[in-house]
Parts: sequence; C-alpha cells; structure tokens
Amino acid sequence: MNDMALRIVWVYPDLLSTYGDQGNALVLERRAQQRRLTVQRRDVRSDQAIPTDGDIYLIGGGEDRPQRLAAERLRRDGGLNRASDNGAIIFSVCAGYQILGHEFVNDLGQREQGLGLLDVTSGRGEAERCVGDVLGDVDSRLGLPALTGFENHQGVTHLGPHARPFAQVRLGKGNGVGDGTEGAWNGTVFGTYLHGPVLARNPQIADLLIRLALEVNNLNPVDETWYEALRAERIAAAQAV
Ligand code: GLN
Repeated sequence: MNDMALRIVWVYPDLLSTYGDQGNALVLERRAQQRRLTVQRRDVRSDQAIPTDGDIYLIGGGEDRPQRLAAERLRRDGGLNRASDNGAIIFSVCAGYQILGHEFVNDLGQREQGLGLLDVTSGRGEAERCVGDVLGDVDSRLGLPALTGFENHQGVTHLGPHARPFAQVRLGKGNGVGDGTEGAWNGTVFGTYLHGPVLARNPQIADLLIRLALEVNNLNPVDETWYEALRAERIAAAQAV
C-alpha cells in the first residue's frame, strides 16, 4: 500500500454481486476508515479495465451466465492477473472464487477457463445445489474465529496441491466434494463459497485483508457489538437446522 490511501477495487459489480455481496466492499471500506485509513474504492464495471495498482480486490458471486461473461472479460483484460503478480490481495466469493481457479463449468455445460490465480478446479455437482447456512473453522494459520455464512451453488471445487482449504465445515457443504473443506487460499489470494455478506458476518476476515495490505500484525479494536449480535444469531440459526 502507498502512504496515501488503501485502494479497494470491487470487480464487476454489474455481473458479480449476488446475495448482497456488495456488503463486502462496504464492510471492508468501513473497517479501514474506522482505523483512520483513507480509502479509495473503485467499483469497476465489466466494460472498464481492471486497474492493476489496487491493494485489495473483491470479486463476488453470480449467476451462471454472468459468471461466464465475467470470466471472458477478465481473461481478455488480464488486469487481475497483473495485480496479483504485483502482490495484490484478492478476496473472492462463489462465482468469483470459481473464476479465480483453473476452470469451471459454465452455463452452456462447457469447461470454461479461469484465471489460474488459485490452484482449484470447479465442476458441476451431480446432486442438488448446495444451499443453506454454513458454520466452519477457518484454517488455524489465519487465526480467525468461527466462519459463518450461507451458500447457494451448483459448482463443486477440488483443490490442487498449491491451495489450502480456507476452512473446514462443521455444518454445510462448502467445496461440495465431501471432504468437509470450504474455500481455498494461497498467500494473498482467497476464495470462499460463503455469502452473508461474508465480511459482514466475519469482519475479522476484512481485518485480515487490511492487515495484509498494511503488512501489520494488529489493528486497533473497533466496536463489534452489531457484528457479534449478527454472528450469534446466524450461528444459532445454523445449529438449529
Ligand atoms: N453459478 C455458480 C454456481 O452455481 C456460482 C453461484 C453463486 O455465485 N452463488 O456454482
């Protein structure tokens, strides 16, 4: 990060923003501002070039057709890959997560090339969609509390040797391959199937992204009352099913 502003890039809100994933940008921006950081947020539509000088990139979920269009444009644009080469932090949700992988199955039933930023490959699950509340434990290396969110996806995602599961599910399907894994990460690139928006339900993930951008180990505490109430309610709801 330069010393002027934390640059947050929200990728393709016109194609990839289901289930209130916009909230991820709002929460990230807010938590950075609460730490007295100047934030420059850019919402980059799919007809615009992806800037390569961002600090944190957010890419959300989407229906199958917009997901294919987004992947086509991101491949053609190349900016997200260049940003990643520059060390940018990328946080992706659901369709965005699948796009970051090597390939996924598109709305035409064809294998569609992803960006290869995460060592994961997604197919379409034969069984019913993975739908419902999820409760999990984040990879202990990341030092985060329980993961809460909800999922709604047909895709199932296999991890290659260069990706670590983001979490293990206690409840829910996550990657949907039956091994209890949810999402993936490697270095500064993260993917999850969870909505919620996931950064509203898990603000410590937003703080992790900010810490990575600032290259610091700690951030000043902020009022967590509202977040904790939401988390408690949703974790209880997941356990009640
Ligand atoms: N279209 C993808 C799937 O069904 C992703 C869905 C989503 O982003 N919610 O797997």
